[in-house]
Amino acid sequence: MGTPVRHFTATAPDGQVFTVNIERDFRYDPYRDFLVCTHCDWAPSLLTMKKIADMAGEHLASVHGADRGLSQQDNEGFRRARLIVLPIVAVLLIALFVHLQNF
Ligand SMILES: [Zn+2]
Repeated sequence: MGTPVRHFTATAPDGQVFTVNIERDFRYDPYRDFLVCTHCDWAPSLLTMKKIADMAGEHLASVHGADRGLSQQDNEGFRRARLIVLPIVAVLLIALFVHLQNF
């Protein structure tokens, strides 16, 4: 449904790795993020004050027993798209800075 933008992973005592994704649905304006477990049909509402990382970690630990080494990483494709945008912003900022110094 959505585009995975971030993954939360944790490892169970038997070494199995469990993953919860943040999926971004661009059909909404502004976009909406959903938390989706890749192992069961857990997909809670994000209309909560809880931190998403805490919710993901809590689910992985309590439902799947994966309470070790909780980590999160950006989705590769999504990260790459952002890496292309960042240098452009940096160049614009430098240009602005140089411009201001010339006054
Ligand atoms: Zn689950």
